[in-house]
This record gives sequence, C-alpha cells and structure tokens, in this order.
Amino acid sequence: MHEADLVANTVKTWLGNPISRSLLRWVSKRTKKGSKLESALKKYVGEAEKLSFQEKLAYFIVKLALDKGSESFGISKEQMIESLKNPVVRRGIANILEGIGYYGVQRPQTTAAPFLIVWNFTKQCNLRCRHCYENAGPKPASDELTTEEAKHAIDEFANAGVVALSFSGGEPLVRKDFFEVAKYAAEKEFYVSVASNGTLITEKVAQKMKDIGIQYIEISLDGFEKTHDEFRGMLGSWKRAVEGIRNCVKVELDTCVATTVTHYNLREIPKLLEFIEKDLHAKRFIMFNFIPVSKGKEIVDQDLTPKEREELLDFLYSKLIDNNCKLDAFCTAPQYAVTSYKFAFGPVVATHFTNKAAIEMLKGRTKSLTEFIGGCGAGRLYCGMEPNGDIELCVFIPIKIGNIREQSLVKIWRESPVLKQIRNRDLFKGCGECEYKYICGGCRARAYAYFDDLQGPDPSCSVNEKYWEKLHLYR
Ligand code: SF4
Ligand code: SF4
Repeated sequence: MHEADLVANTVKTWLGNPISRSLLRWVSKRTKKGSKLESALKKYVGEAEKLSFQEKLAYFIVKLALDKGSESFGISKEQMIESLKNPVVRRGIANILEGIGYYGVQRPQTTAAPFLIVWNFTKQCNLRCRHCYENAGPKPASDELTTEEAKHAIDEFANAGVVALSFSGGEPLVRKDFFEVAKYAAEKEFYVSVASNGTLITEKVAQKMKDIGIQYIEISLDGFEKTHDEFRGMLGSWKRAVEGIRNCVKVELDTCVATTVTHYNLREIPKLLEFIEKDLHAKRFIMFNFIPVSKGKEIVDQDLTPKEREELLDFLYSKLIDNNCKLDAFCTAPQYAVTSYKFAFGPVVATHFTNKAAIEMLKGRTKSLTEFIGGCGAGRLYCGMEPNGDIELCVFIPIKIGNIREQSLVKIWRESPVLKQIRNRDLFKGCGECEYKYICGGCRARAYAYFDDLQGPDPSCSVNEKYWEKLHLYR
C-alpha cells in the first residue's frame, strides 16, 4: 500500500471508528469552563492545570489520539508538543478532532467550526476597484455591527473553536474601531490577519498593527502603476499601496502581496513577482482567483481561460519550489492543490490556508493531506461574515446562511441545509466526475457565479473545458 493511503487508513481506523468518535464527541463537549479537549491539550504540552476526574480521563483519550496521529503523519512526539505550545495550533487541533468526532473522518474533512472566518469588516472603502466583490463605497452600510456587537461576535467565534480571523472589507482600516476590535481578537488568541489596499498604511500604522498582535497582512497590487491605478479607480493608489507594503516589511510584519489575475495584468505577472521579491522584499505572493461577482461581473470577459490559468499555476508552483526564489508563491484557486499533487508528490499546497513552514513539515504526505484539506474550503473549513453579521459560505458567494446577531455560529455550521449541499462533492456537475474532486472540488463561488448552481462545474480547468466553451458560445 502507498504510504499516503496507509496514513489515511490509519487515521480512519484510529479516529474514525464509532468508539473513538463517541469518545472524541465526549471530550469535545463544551461547558462554560471551555472543553475538556482544550484542558487535555494544555496538559499534553505540560501547561499543567489541576484536572478534574473527567478531565484526566479526557487527557488519556486525547494523548492516545495525538500519539497515534503524530506517528501516522511521521511527526515526532517532541515536534507535536512543540507545535501545540502555540495556542493557535492547539485550537486548530481541537477543532479538527472535534470535527472528526462530530462528522467522522471525511474526504475532505469538515471541521467542528470554521477554521477561518473572513470578516468583511465594513462596506466603506477609499478606492473604487473594478473587480470589487463587496461593491464597497464611500460610506459604511447603515446596519454594520457596532463595536460591542463586533466583540460579541469574537467571543462567539472563540466559544465555537474558530482558529483564524481575517479582517477584510471594504477597507478594514477606515473603520475607526478597527484597532480596538482587532486587538480584542488577538487577545482572544486568534490568528489575526488583515487584507488591505495598503493605501492607509504609514509606518506608524504598520507598527501599531504589529504591536496589537496582527500576525499577517495581505496587500493588493494589481500590476505595475498604470494597470493598478486604472484597475483601482484612483491615480496614485499604486504608489501608496507600494509604500504600505514597504512599511509593513520594515516593521517585520509577515507581508503578502495579493493580485487578482485577469487579462488586464496576466502578462505583467512574472515581472511583478520579481519586483515583489527583489525590490519590495515581501515574503509571499498570492494570486487571487478572479470571481465574477458584484462589480466583477462587469469585467467577466477578462477572465483567464482554463489553459492560461493552468499555465500560470505551473509557473507559480515552479517559483514555490525554486530554492533560489525567496518569494513563496501561492494561489487561492483550488486547482493549485492539483498542481502540487501533479508535481510528482511535491510539497502540498493548501490553497487558502497555506504557509511554507506547514508545507515543509508535511512534505511527502501529499495525497492524504490534499484529500484532507480538499482545495475549496467554503462551508467546510471556512466561511465569510458580512459587516452586518450575515454569515456566508464564502465572501464570494452571496448566499446568507445565518446571522451572528440572531444565531449561534455552531448552530448555523451544523444545521444549514446549504452547507450540507456544498459538502457533498459526489453530486457536483463536472467536478463530481473528476479524479481530483476530493483534492480540489472546484471553486464553488465560480460555479455559482457562472451557472447559478452551488453544485455546478467550475469552468477553470481543462477537465471542465466543455463548460467553459459552452459559456463562450453565447457571448
Ligand atoms: S474538474 Fe473540478 S475538481 Fe476537477 S480539477 Fe477541475 S475544478 Fe478541480
Ligand atoms: S468558493 Fe472556495 S475556492 Fe472559491 S473563493 Fe471561496 S473558498 Fe476559495
């Protein structure tokens, strides 16, 4: 049996059997004190707490699961303990184990609560971008969460076991209470990141972000000056965004440059990567997959063809594995997981959720992990939240599945019928018949944007080329 299948089978046998699942469900049960699972994980890393009898019992179960899990993934016990000392990692493992307890071992896995929530913090923005998925404008929406409601939402996310929070928008930095709310999230031990247009980031602002505990920033750059300013609807926005990137790099914030690729900027990408690596010295580049929603619908004809996208993904991946390139190149297109898989079992890429350290640690276990992580994470590992508290499968899928003012996140995550639909890949058209369905699954936002069908085909790859051609026949 191939090593990858062996790992998957071991996890399935150890954690997916009915006895382990009910034990995991029991240890994950949350009380006002938190879950027994979290106390057990703390004990595992030596942050000794006085444990009750039930917590001690939980500790033995969790220890067994972790020892077996680390053995299966080829990680030493010491490595496991070292990683679990980080509260973010601890929360992540708790979320996965609780997810296995509740949903069983799945291909791909659904976690007990979203691993990541992208929070469109406000509708207000100081730019007018052509591809804006939020249709942001000069004013905030009238029903945005107040500061107190925003903090309440963060408490709710912490209770549910969410691991990472990303503040997006609109432009999150225009909201006056941004620092107060982001600091509150960092204090609650979330992995906090920000997606910004960069124009408001002076050195002082960058330093302040770092000081309050923001761990990662993504700044958009759509190409070189002319292309960017045209795209962003404001002269001078490129210069200010570049300045913002330089300021973040200067204060040593983990900085990523994000580019939505369309025909407007496709040809600039190789040179842009060089500029980001050698002049801006950012650590990462992420290609945002273009999704024709909201304002983006108006430029749908600028979308890449399947062939162009595949060639670009190959190019980015060649950069990622090139030891002479200091820039880590990622992409939000779920097909990037297929690219990594096809590269003769090279390092795994988890599209939206990736980082180089994780890639290194997981090297050689590509198949089991790509099928566990599963490409598109919408409604399975991740969801979006609008400025008014509406919860969505993904910020690019404008379907409301609940509201944080009215329902608990866990209730929405477990009971929404739409979520059940998006998690069943066997029923997808096109993608459902593809050998990579558990690795990639297609971008559900693109399927919905093009075919008005969450279970429709994502016309991004050569497997689904016939759907792409059909779309263009009527244009
Ligand atoms: S057909 Fe769908 S699942 Fe297969 S590679 Fe293409 S987008 Fe991904
Ligand atoms: S639908 Fe999936 S792949 Fe597409 S943007 Fe959302 S999370 Fe990413």
